[in-house]
Amino acid sequence: MGAQVLVFDVGGTTTRAGLFDLGAARLMRTERAPTPSVSNCPGETGARLRARLYGLMARLAARLGAETPARVVIGFPGPVDANGVALRAPTVWGAERDPEPVAARVRALWPGAGIRVVNDLSAAGYGFLRHAHDDACIVTVSSGIGHKVFLDGRPVVGPAGRGGEIGHLRVDFSADAPPCECGGRGHLGALACGRAVPDQAARLARRDPGGFARSSLAAAVGGRASRVDAPLLARAFRAGDPWATTLVGVLAAPLGQVLAGIHAAVGVERFVIMGGFAQGLGPAYLAPVARAAAASAWDLGQNWGLMLELGERGDDAGLFGAGRLAAREWGGPA
Ligand SMILES: [Zn+2]
Repeated sequence: MGAQVLVFDVGGTTTRAGLFDLGAARLMRTERAPTPSVSNCPGETGARLRARLYGLMARLAARLGAETPARVVIGFPGPVDANGVALRAPTVWGAERDPEPVAARVRALWPGAGIRVVNDLSAAGYGFLRHAHDDACIVTVSSGIGHKVFLDGRPVVGPAGRGGEIGHLRVDFSADAPPCECGGRGHLGALACGRAVPDQAARLARRDPGGFARSSLAAAVGGRASRVDAPLLARAFRAGDPWATTLVGVLAAPLGQVLAGIHAAVGVERFVIMGGFAQGLGPAYLAPVARAAAASAWDLGQNWGLMLELGERGDDAGLFGAGRLAAREWGGPA
């Protein structure tokens, strides 16, 4: 057995930990536990909530038999700068704006260990690269939307780590554009992912009440389109329901438009789409995204049907990618 790296994927709901074997280039064991967050620890103060995360990481490491790891990689759900300082973590710490020195706090847990802290989607992205110098855009479409552009095998996020946040790009400038959880309005994340489904369903039902009435979804929600959620939509879409197909097209359109913008900006030709909402809809989701992308920019012969793929690595995608990053940083097959 080769050297092992302790890897973490801190999520808004669940924190995962694993041992990644550099020699075998695979995850050997994994553990998981609920993340102490503003949503499941109401009344907890900011500093205590943060301390509880490190306590959880130590407990998960102990469950893996990794009390004194030599190397640790952490995927963190927010923008992270080059020194391992997290700028924000809304899914874990809510609206708090104080930067968190994650790398320094983890170093206090395991003095002497090599430590890397990166954005969680950056970590997952390493798992989808085909070789060490690959170009790709990793996109997650779940309860929110984010992306990371990898050029020459590295995520490009800018000098302060602010890149890779297309979910908060405004794409709807109308007066009644839906609000985004960040406080903005008309952002891609408010229009095109799982949490956008009820609002977009209600809007489409107002435009096409007859189509909605004929849909299997109308019966499932008692005629209240705003009760259509992502799982219901996925089921109807996979069953070929015409109105559900139209609604998925409405949701896919602004995403395709923004992906076309990324392609036009940097020329990347491989888009790996992951996340629960995309997985729920399945491969057929890619077609309306591709059509919208093709309609959003000029034609230089690029084939959007071949440029989009579903990233199917399941719940351990973040841990696996963190292990791949460790292999890049500290040797072993990448
Ligand atoms: Zn936003």
